[in-house]
Amino acid sequence: MNAWTFAYEGFDPAEEGLREALCTLGNGYFATRGAAPEAVGDGLRYPGTYVAGCYNRLVSRVAGREVENEDLVNVPNWLPLSFRPKGGDWLDLRRVEVLDYRQELDLRHGMLTRSLSVLDPQGRATRVTQRRFVHMAYHHLAGLETTIVPENWSGALEVRSALDGRVTNAGVARYRLLDGHHLAPLETGETGDDTIWLLVETRTSHVRIAQAARTRVLRAGEAVAVERRTHQEPGFVAHDLAVDVREGQPVTVEKVVTLFTSGSRAVAEPGGAARKWVARVGGFEELLERHMVAWGQLWRRCHMDIDADDHEVAQTVNLHIFHLLQVVSWHTIDLDVGVPARGLHGEAYRGHVFWDELFMFPFLNLRFPDATRALLAYRYRRLPEARWAARQAGYQGAMYPWQSGSDGREETQRLHLNPRSGRWLPDNSHLQRHVNIAIAYNVWQYYQVTGDLEFLGQIGAEMLLEIARFWADIASYNPDLDRYEILGVMGPDEYHDGYPDRDEPGLDNNAYTNVMAAWVLCRALDTLHLLPDHRRLELEERLRLQQEEIDRFEEVSRKLRVCFHDGDIISQFEGYERLQELDWEGLRRRHGDIRRLDRILEAEGDSPNRYKASKQADVLMLFYLLSADELRALLERLGYRLEPAAIPRNVDYYLHRTSHGSTLSGVVHAWVLARSDRPRSWTFFNEALASDVHDVQGGTTAEGIHLGAMAGSVDLAQRCYTGLEAREDVLWLNPSLPEELDGLDFEVRYRGHWGVNLHVTAEALQVLVAGSNAAPLKVGFKGEVVEIEPGGMREFPL
Ligand code: BGC
Repeated sequence: MNAWTFAYEGFDPAEEGLREALCTLGNGYFATRGAAPEAVGDGLRYPGTYVAGCYNRLVSRVAGREVENEDLVNVPNWLPLSFRPKGGDWLDLRRVEVLDYRQELDLRHGMLTRSLSVLDPQGRATRVTQRRFVHMAYHHLAGLETTIVPENWSGALEVRSALDGRVTNAGVARYRLLDGHHLAPLETGETGDDTIWLLVETRTSHVRIAQAARTRVLRAGEAVAVERRTHQEPGFVAHDLAVDVREGQPVTVEKVVTLFTSGSRAVAEPGGAARKWVARVGGFEELLERHMVAWGQLWRRCHMDIDADDHEVAQTVNLHIFHLLQVVSWHTIDLDVGVPARGLHGEAYRGHVFWDELFMFPFLNLRFPDATRALLAYRYRRLPEARWAARQAGYQGAMYPWQSGSDGREETQRLHLNPRSGRWLPDNSHLQRHVNIAIAYNVWQYYQVTGDLEFLGQIGAEMLLEIARFWADIASYNPDLDRYEILGVMGPDEYHDGYPDRDEPGLDNNAYTNVMAAWVLCRALDTLHLLPDHRRLELEERLRLQQEEIDRFEEVSRKLRVCFHDGDIISQFEGYERLQELDWEGLRRRHGDIRRLDRILEAEGDSPNRYKASKQADVLMLFYLLSADELRALLERLGYRLEPAAIPRNVDYYLHRTSHGSTLSGVVHAWVLARSDRPRSWTFFNEALASDVHDVQGGTTAEGIHLGAMAGSVDLAQRCYTGLEAREDVLWLNPSLPEELDGLDFEVRYRGHWGVNLHVTAEALQVLVAGSNAAPLKVGFKGEVVEIEPGGMREFPL
């Protein structure tokens, strides 16, 4: 098995959706699903192209109510390329005999190849090879090359190369009752030679999107003159080419496409830019070469070499890094975007940005801190909206939305469909105020990894302080207990959105929220100390931050309430112990896969709110984000004692009560078991790796990859199994490889050091610092800190 290719043999219409998502190509600016160029959205196949940050808002009527949704827009399909022998049918794999079929994703070079042979009803055999890229160096560019060999016939061949702006957002069956018509056609045209172009506009956000396609025919590498006709209708433009073909002689059709929007930088008008650049760029082969150089550079920075007997592990880790880099790359830095939970790979969750960035930052921070800084700037620009949301809810500070899109308002739907029962149900998931924690945590981690005080002073501190302010204000004082409480929220476990006997949604004293709110308050206090005096003064003036409020940060950070039950089990929320135990075995017997317990129970007229049953890690998120020492110290500050032995007891307790209905669950459980139960950790790690490749959530990958689980699984290899921690100017390492991993080798960028190579085996850890003018790297190992000069190496026996 090759760790750099994903190959699919045979054509299976039922598998197409999954393959399309997994074979998506992108460059951090836009991405296109790996759909066949001749395919149209027909329920099984779904060509989709998404531009980072390109959203549109529409109102639909469902279940007797008007609902407004903002979607990441499926922009015009640039892929369409089909052919037919004159007088025959356009290629449709369901109407011909498919003699052989292979699709291959080349991760190293960012290229998708499809090779097939078909026999049409008239007995004509034709072989086709298609290669495509979405350019990693020129982010407005993509290319598709099609080589056609008539194997047993000669004659006239018609080729159609089109740009299709008639597309809608129809990629997720559950959303089909909602309006998905986001595009209005504006113009189409041709330039008189080999180029067609198209201009559309999103219907309410008024983003103009232009594409131009240059289609050339080559024989033996030389362009040949062909007869062309242009076909135009609103939102659609095609070039029909007539080519004479000879038995056994290949003919190649090269389609090079540019994509610009009215939001693109250094562009006067997107249509003009698309036409101008498509005329200027070179041919497919030349572009491909440059594209491959860019991927080579990315892999040099981002490789994660895994030495394991199970080769699928290395292959899947590569796939996960590949997709992460296709959503966040150097081209993302200049954009004003966050990372959609499902990538730019499909329409699930409408392209919204959740707390999932928490799982994506660690890999990116250590390689592309300029990109994570840009992602934090996306949040910073939406701070006024978050302040407004807090004010509307009656609080101080900033309350970031659970789901975020273009302008940072709350995008979470208020109704969702249970496809199992067919019912539209209230969706309370916006009560997950803990998204604020993820943003604050990412600010702090970014600072720890980069030491970028400039960022902290300009952007980071303001977000941290406003988030801290929110926690200090939402926490209400309970004089009977002399404790602060946070009431009416939801934790990460979405199966609990309220108490079974209470009408109002929301839970009280969610342990994850309360403990991490205390953590945020502590980091806000630290930040005030870190800032240079004059900046601190400026911020205090700007935010009207008074000493009393700072005192309150201190007070609340020491008195937030955490509930316990059964001795030292941290209660997921107050009253958790009163819930019933779920009959896990009985449910499994009846339903098989019970990950989506919420849907199963609701369809039976029941609710997970009644049971001790979680969708994903909630309390255990604490052990994921904080080291055991850090968590113990934080709880001690809050006046609670957590004995070391309580940690495995808590892990065990909640592990038995979790259905893993989110792909994030495997990542967190692999992490929290890494030191205490390596075999089980390895099982969860493999589960996280399987999330998309084996589509473990029952068909959801076709609607978009699970980027949090993808990045989080790579981070398990990166930080969890190496014990990597960036803390106070020191890179701490404490490797503990699972038995099944023989070695790990990767490179991180840390505080001015561009290339810190870490090589880990069961016997030793090697740290190699690339030559530079930076100060020596401080590495912490087993409680001691050593300095390694640039250009130096140090080996630590394990
Ligand atoms: C999970 C959330 C996650 C969201 C987007 C949900 O299924 O429960 O934690 O943020 O998916 O990935």
